Amino acid sequence: MLDRKSWKFLVDEVVRRLPKTFSLADVTAHKDYLQRHYPANRFVEAKIRQSLQVLRDQGTLRFLGNGKYERLDVAPRFSPLIDPSSAATYTSQSQVGRVMLETWAEFNLYCVNCAADALTRLPANTPVADFACDACDDRFQLKSTKNRFKTTLQGAAFGPTIAAVRDQLMPEFVLVEYDPRYHTVIFVEAVPGRLITEDRVVPREKLGPDARRAGWQGCNIDITGLPRARIVEPAGLDRSDVRAFWRQINES
Ligand SMILES: [Zn+2]
Repeated sequence: MLDRKSWKFLVDEVVRRLPKTFSLADVTAHKDYLQRHYPANRFVEAKIRQSLQVLRDQGTLRFLGNGKYERLDVAPRFSPLIDPSSAATYTSQSQVGRVMLETWAEFNLYCVNCAADALTRLPANTPVADFACDACDDRFQLKSTKNRFKTTLQGAAFGPTIAAVRDQLMPEFVLVEYDPRYHTVIFVEAVPGRLITEDRVVPREKLGPDARRAGWQGCNIDITGLPRARIVEPAGLDRSDVRAFWRQINES
C-alpha cells in the first residue's frame, strides 16, 4: 500500500504529458492507466474532475471553460487564507468554522507520514478521522481554534476513541489555530496519534435528556508534554520582492 499514489498525483502526472492546453477528454483518455491504480473505484471520471479542481485551486491549472484547461507549470501554491464562501450554506457558527477549515485543509495540507502532497476528505460520519492519505492510508483528525491550543483537545465520542486507541487506529491530530478577523490560518501543528494512550482519553459527562444527542458521551484528550510537528507558521515575504516593490513605488 505504501507506494499507492493519490488521485491528484496521478492526474497531475497525466496532465504533465499533455499539451499546455488540453480538454477533459484528453485526461479521461488515460482512464485505464488511472483505473489500474484504483481497480475498485467505480467513479474514475468523477475522481478525475475532482482532481482537476484541486490542481486549479492550487494554482497549477486554469479552467478555460467548455471543458478546456491550461497547465500553468508552476509549483503548488500554499495559502494561509480561509475562503469564507466555502461555508456560505451553513448557519451554525461551529459548522461554519469546521467546514471552512476542512476546505482549507483539503487544498493546503499534505501527508506528514509519506510523500503524498494532498489528503482526501473522509465522509462526515467517519468515526474519529476527518482526512486520509490515499498513498499510505494514514488518517488525520482536524482540530481548530480561534485561540491557542493548550493541553486538552476536545475528542470525538468516548467509546469509539478508546476503541481506536486499543486497536492502534488513532488518527494523527492536526491542530489549526486561525484568526477569523483576517480569515487566515496562523499556526498548524501535528501530534502523532500513536502517542495518545488510553490514560490520556478522559470521558466527559453524558449529554442530558434534553440534549439533541441525549446520552451521547464525548471525551477530552490530554496532550500535555507530547511533541508537535510544526506545519504552518507566519512567514515574511521574500526580501528581494519587497525591495523591488519598494523601488517601484519610490521611482515615480
Ligand atoms: Zn501518506
